[in-house]
Amino acid sequence: MIFTENKSIAEILETLGAEKNIFLLACNGCAEVCETGGESALLGMKAELEKAGKNVTGTALVDFLCNKVLVATRLAREMDKLKQADSMLVMTCGVGVQAVSRIVDIVVHPAANTVSLGGLQGLWPSDERCQACGDCALDYTGGICPVTSCAKELLNGPCGGAEDGKCEVDPERDCGWLKIYERLEKIGRLENLKKVYKPRDHSKMLPSQDLRKTSFYDLEQ
Ligand code: SF4
Ligand code: SF4
Repeated sequence: MIFTENKSIAEILETLGAEKNIFLLACNGCAEVCETGGESALLGMKAELEKAGKNVTGTALVDFLCNKVLVATRLAREMDKLKQADSMLVMTCGVGVQAVSRIVDIVVHPAANTVSLGGLQGLWPSDERCQACGDCALDYTGGICPVTSCAKELLNGPCGGAEDGKCEVDPERDCGWLKIYERLEKIGRLENLKKVYKPRDHSKMLPSQDLRKTSFYDLEQ
C-alpha cells in the first residue's frame, strides 16, 4: 500500500500555469483508498479544473498506475485526446507518476504527495523509485525522482562530480541529474532548471499519527 495525500488545488493550478488543455489520469489502486484517486476523486478534480477555466481533453482510470503495461494499454485508446492536451495531471503516487512519464512524451504533473510506502508496495519496484518524501517534485524534474535517482538526493541540479554520465558516488549508476536534464530537454521544459526548488521539509517524511496507528506500522507484525 502506498499512501498519498492531495496537493492543494492552489498548488496544482500554479504548476499547471498557462497550460489550458489538460488530460486527467487517475489510479484506481492505492490512490483510490487514500481518496487521491478513483472515480469520485477524478470527477471532483475535473470539476475543479473546469471551474478554474481549464479544458479537460479527456479522463482515464487505470487500476494500477504503477504498472507500465496497464498504463500503456489504457492510454493507447486515448491518443486523440492526449494529442490535444498541453499536459497531464496524474492522480497517483510518485511511482505511478514516474511510470506514466515513461509512457508519454508530454509534461506530467503529480496531483498528490507520497507520504508512506507502508506494507505491500506498488507493481513497479517502489522504494527504488520513491522515498515518500511528502512533497513530490516530479513536476519540476520531468517525472524522474531526484530523491531516488541522485545519490545525494539533490533538488537543485547536479553536484558536478559525474564522469562520463556516471554518478561520482556509485560509478555503476547513471547520474540522476543527467537523466533529468535529458528528460526536460525532451519535453521542452529545460527552463525548469532555472527555478530554485524550496528546501525539503523532512518532517513531511513522517506519516501522520493516524496512519502510524494502523496495522501497517505495527512493528510486531
Ligand atoms: S519527489 Fe520522489 S520521493 Fe518525493 S514523493 Fe515524488 S517520487 Fe516520491
Ligand atoms: S553525480 Fe549525479 S547522481 Fe551522483 S550525486 Fe552528483 S548529481 Fe547526484
